[in-house]
Amino acid sequence: MDSNKKITIIIFSMVTLLTIVIVALVAIGSRESGYNGAKKRAYLAADIVKETLTSHMINGTMDKRETFLTSISQIKEIKDLWIIRGETVSQQFGKSTNRNEKPRDEIDEKVLQTGKEILLPNESLESATLRITIPYTASSHDKPNCLSCHTAKEGEVLGAISLEFDIQDDRISSITVLLNIIAIITVFLILILIYISRKIKPYTSSFDSITEVLKKVHEGDYSVRAKEGVLKEDKEAFQWLNEIIEKLETVLTGIEKNLTAFVHNRASSTNSDKLLTAKKIIEDITEIYNYKKTIETDLTKDDIYYRLVQVFKDKLKIENFCIYENDLKRDLRKVIFSTKDSMPCCSLLKNIKEQCRAERTDTVVLSENFPEICRIATCDNCTDYICIPFTINKHKSITVHIMCDGKEHLEDTKYKIGIIKKYLEETKPILESKILMDVLRERNLIDGLTGLYNRKYLDDFIEKRMPQELLLGSSYAVMFLDIDYFKMVNDTYGHDAGDAILQKLSKTMKAEISDKDFIIRFGGEEFLIIMENPTEESAKDLATRINSEFAKLVYTFNNESFSKTVSIGYAFLPSDTDQMWKCIKFADLCLYKAKETGRNKVIRFTKDLLINKDKDNY
Ligand code: GH3
Ligand code: MG
Ligand code: MG
Repeated sequence: MDSNKKITIIIFSMVTLLTIVIVALVAIGSRESGYNGAKKRAYLAADIVKETLTSHMINGTMDKRETFLTSISQIKEIKDLWIIRGETVSQQFGKSTNRNEKPRDEIDEKVLQTGKEILLPNESLESATLRITIPYTASSHDKPNCLSCHTAKEGEVLGAISLEFDIQDDRISSITVLLNIIAIITVFLILILIYISRKIKPYTSSFDSITEVLKKVHEGDYSVRAKEGVLKEDKEAFQWLNEIIEKLETVLTGIEKNLTAFVHNRASSTNSDKLLTAKKIIEDITEIYNYKKTIETDLTKDDIYYRLVQVFKDKLKIENFCIYENDLKRDLRKVIFSTKDSMPCCSLLKNIKEQCRAERTDTVVLSENFPEICRIATCDNCTDYICIPFTINKHKSITVHIMCDGKEHLEDTKYKIGIIKKYLEETKPILESKILMDVLRERNLIDGLTGLYNRKYLDDFIEKRMPQELLLGSSYAVMFLDIDYFKMVNDTYGHDAGDAILQKLSKTMKAEISDKDFIIRFGGEEFLIIMENPTEESAKDLATRINSEFAKLVYTFNNESFSKTVSIGYAFLPSDTDQMWKCIKFADLCLYKAKETGRNKVIRFTKDLLINKDKDNY
């Protein structure tokens, strides 16, 4: 409802209420004054009757009183008039034979008894009368003195007079007054309303227009403009308002248009209010900027992944997800992070390029429309999944795997794909540099011929990783391997043949060790295997397997075929010694023993292998 209507209704209601109050007060007042007028006339008539009857008594013409009373009662407003003889008068002068002088009703009786007048209005739609009964009481103060003729006591009721007045004329004149008042107020009201609509309407319509525009702006619609009013005063205000809205629209549209692309449309998809969208975009950009600044100073690749996981959990509020790092060269996948309580829909860890749909197509894979879009993924603990691929460089890529529970959750997560990509984009150059540094570091630690770790790696392991692992209770087996009569290969078939055999042994060892173990090329044709948390059996088994598998290989050079054997010695840390270099030395002692006693054998370290001096220090 517009303000003009509201004001009109309020004024109309107030004036109507005022009219009702005035009319009610006037009605009550004029009724009262009608009664009072009739009452005065009744007293006058009662006095005239009393005085005349007294004169009749004195003159002895009491028998003519009926003629007098009849003529009085014919006065226009007097509908009826009768007198009542009291008990004292009846006793003194005898009961009246005149019917008119007996009490006609209870009112007459009551007035005779109490000596108090009774006033009784009688109103209906057609007529209005006022009945009044006034007592005549004996008084010595009256002139002539009542008690000189009546044998009555002072104040005793001698009789009464009852009159019935027609007050219809009074009522009609009151109604006429009321109608006049109503008519005047109605005219006044009409004039006020005309005035309001002429004078106040422009103000109220301006107010309504501004309210409407502000409401739309508040709801996020910045395309609305206020329509200029007719008043001079509000033209400027309208202009200012429209200019502010226009500026807001221009700035917010600019922010949305230019910066939404920056954060991949995240906010605009969730909000229709440009101002809130802009706020969200700026928040996102600030957070992304802070994230980038932080990871720039992070030391390792793991730190960066940790930060990325925190962003996913805390800022993007993604509950169930996994981050995989794909080694595109080896076509393997490594789990970087997986939320504790949820099993991923996908357990693919190799053949990534071919079997991971997201990686193969380099597009986001959503189970929304086609639940089996990825033939590998199976959702046992959730309803849907989203896989986002992201290439870091030609050797490494990341796959973000998000599990969603229910359609609402899926919809909510879908809008986060853009911002997830943005975070990954910001992560990319820093992660790439860390990966490159890792590769360089790794290269520095890897032997070129065999692809095995070199002695520097062993040094790093002993210095950095091993002390921590020992604190956590790790134990190791150290194996020393040396090819038997290897020099002979070089001498007979050439250095390349020797290299090929070194590579074959490396391959054999790699195939036999477990994920926890690693191999070091210690020197020319000497190798170390470090087993983590071995048992007596597992160490013996591994050494025996390598020994026998290597011996099975047949080499053909210069049309000659032959096989080679390897001798192995091994010791345990900390059960044989708590120092790694000593453990290597013990393994070497075993190897020496194997060489000494015929080669192609596996020997475990025992104390008796030590020379006497060393036995004492053992
Ligand atoms: P043993 O059974 O006692 O171990 O006899 P061996 O001939 O294997 O022992 P020796 O230590 O005399 O020979 C090691 C040879 O390994 C000497 C060296 O020419 C050769 N060698 C070391 N590094 C390489 C390499 O990278 N490539 C090739 N082809 N040969 C190498
Ligand atoms: Mg050798
Ligand atoms: Mg040797």
